[in-house]
Amino acid sequence: MSRIAQDIPFLPQVGDRHVDPHSYPDGIAFLDGQYLPMSQAKVSVLDWGFLHSDATYDTVHVWNGRFFRLDLHLDRFFGGLDKLRMTIPFDRDGVAGILHNCTALSGHRAAYVEMLCTRGASPTFSRDPRQAINRFMAFAVPFGSVANAEQLQRGLRVSISDKVRIPPASIDPAIKNYHWLDLVRGLYDAYDRGAETALILDFNGNVAEGPGFNVFRVKDGRLSTPAIGVLPGITRRTVFDLCAEAGLSATAKDVSVAMLRGAEEVFITSTAGGIMPVTEIDGAEIADGKVGPITSRLMALYWQKHDDPDWSTPVNYP
Ligand code: PLP
Repeated sequence: MSRIAQDIPFLPQVGDRHVDPHSYPDGIAFLDGQYLPMSQAKVSVLDWGFLHSDATYDTVHVWNGRFFRLDLHLDRFFGGLDKLRMTIPFDRDGVAGILHNCTALSGHRAAYVEMLCTRGASPTFSRDPRQAINRFMAFAVPFGSVANAEQLQRGLRVSISDKVRIPPASIDPAIKNYHWLDLVRGLYDAYDRGAETALILDFNGNVAEGPGFNVFRVKDGRLSTPAIGVLPGITRRTVFDLCAEAGLSATAKDVSVAMLRGAEEVFITSTAGGIMPVTEIDGAEIADGKVGPITSRLMALYWQKHDDPDWSTPVNYP
């Protein structure tokens, strides 16, 4: 405990959890021009990113020492910055270089690499967002997946919550953001029902997305995914690209709850895990309850592309 804390008798004792460097994942962050261990990467409580969720971010993954589709993630991140009128002192190459450095310094060959910008804080605690100094940060930590190894094999058990995703008229979902209260409440609904994760609805009552993933349904061998009110996921886009190569039909359109329940196959997509099968919705099996052939085929193609130089770039490890 610091000297000041020792000198204040009525200060409640805080658990070591908040100061123990081992309670952070092993990784490297970039903050204020410095590369730091994750345990030292801290933001001010006065930052609008923390106080108002006024931030945008993107996450790319590294697999076998290679970034997967980094350009698409940079496009989305810089698009979000523009729409939120945020500026950072780095261009695309600068950000890419920082992401390379964080990953190389972390030594991780399978990593979850995040770039983010908060509105920042203003020296006067002004209520005018234009006075805040925007803050860019990045970090690389070990790769994590929405679905664990067992779930990837047998398929996830999902529940559809009645919570409604924040509508696009309020927040353009193409600005990747931390407005997750709807998703987190959906997740608790799912846990209450014995499921492993959740899907929530769009403002018309159709299926939207889940906490950190998009969803696909396969029917009569054709794929569809919700068109509106969802983050245009890079993994979702990758499924469209893979389908084009594999001669499969894939469309973005309204997907009702009934359509999802009556599917032949369902899977979710995320940078955190790729293409992940769903075999149960609200306790009822999808088709025969097994991971379907189109899902398995796309999963295999997806991971094959991680070594393809057209789809991936090597990290500059020392
Ligand atoms: N939807 C939401 C709300 C997300 O946060 C994410 C990823 O974090 C996704 C979908 C999937 O997007 P991507 O495939 O780009 O990881």
